[in-house]
Amino acid sequence: MNIELIAFTPDPQQVIAGAARTCYLSFDRQNEESDRKLIRQLIRSGHLSVLEHATATFRVRGCSRAFTHQLVRHRLCSFSQQSQRYVKETGFAAVTPPRIREDPEAVLIYDEMLDKIRSAYRHLIELGIRKEDARFLLPNAVTSEIVFSANFRQLRHMLILRGDPHAQWEIREVFIRIGTILKEIAPDCFFDLVVDEEKETIERITGDKN
Ligand SMILES: Cc1cc2nc3c(=O)[nH]c(=O)nc-3n(C[C@H](O)[C@H](O)[C@H](O)COP(=O)(O)OP(=O)(O)OC[C@H]3O[C@@H](n4cnc5c(N)ncnc54)[C@H](O)[C@@H]3O)c2cc1C
Repeated sequence: MNIELIAFTPDPQQVIAGAARTCYLSFDRQNEESDRKLIRQLIRSGHLSVLEHATATFRVRGCSRAFTHQLVRHRLCSFSQQSQRYVKETGFAAVTPPRIREDPEAVLIYDEMLDKIRSAYRHLIELGIRKEDARFLLPNAVTSEIVFSANFRQLRHMLILRGDPHAQWEIREVFIRIGTILKEIAPDCFFDLVVDEEKETIERITGDKN
């Protein structure tokens, strides 16, 4: 799986702090350090609407349809996804969950079924069945590609939900990576979200006075 940051608001923290300062007309106090403090204070106080002024766009490749189905439940994002109506899925690639990969007997069952589906899909296409109908055979495992955009407030929401240990492993893996990227481009907007790549979780720390 490949996760790529395609675009984001230039100087996102300056944009957010500048928007917040409009509320208080405190532009005379604006500098990098005061912006950092202001953004952290806005987050602590729950004044999160100002974070909507910055956005980021990600491309995820080689993920499963099971993952994209969960991702598109987030209603405040914009999405563009590889179409199974227009893209032929003959010989499709598939994601194998780690717990299946670890068990040789499970891998045999899994791969055998995927091969049967590939073969049945190909036969339907050869019979002249349209891709949009043949795709009804395709499993959740089939790989997909998706681009999505969201503002920083929504991305915080998704990081908290999808970085939780209860979230499903694949979407958690994606948001661990996204969390690391976002903390690099806008550290103060995500200061309270601790990304633990080893434990594969994101934890929200409250009460941080830094
Ligand atoms: C661990 C886990 C298990 C899940 N299990 C299931 C499951 O078994 N079955 C299932 O169907 N789904 C399941 N989901 C998906 C879940 O129900 C949500 O659809 C998904 O997480 C999107 O989150 P959301 O609704 O908070 O936010 P988004 O759609 O991302 O929206 C962001 C926020 O905007 C606000 N908002 C958006 N739309 C509205 C609205 N119409 N009215 C009011 N406020 C709104 C809410 O505050 C919302 O939290 C699961 C999610 C998780 C994280």
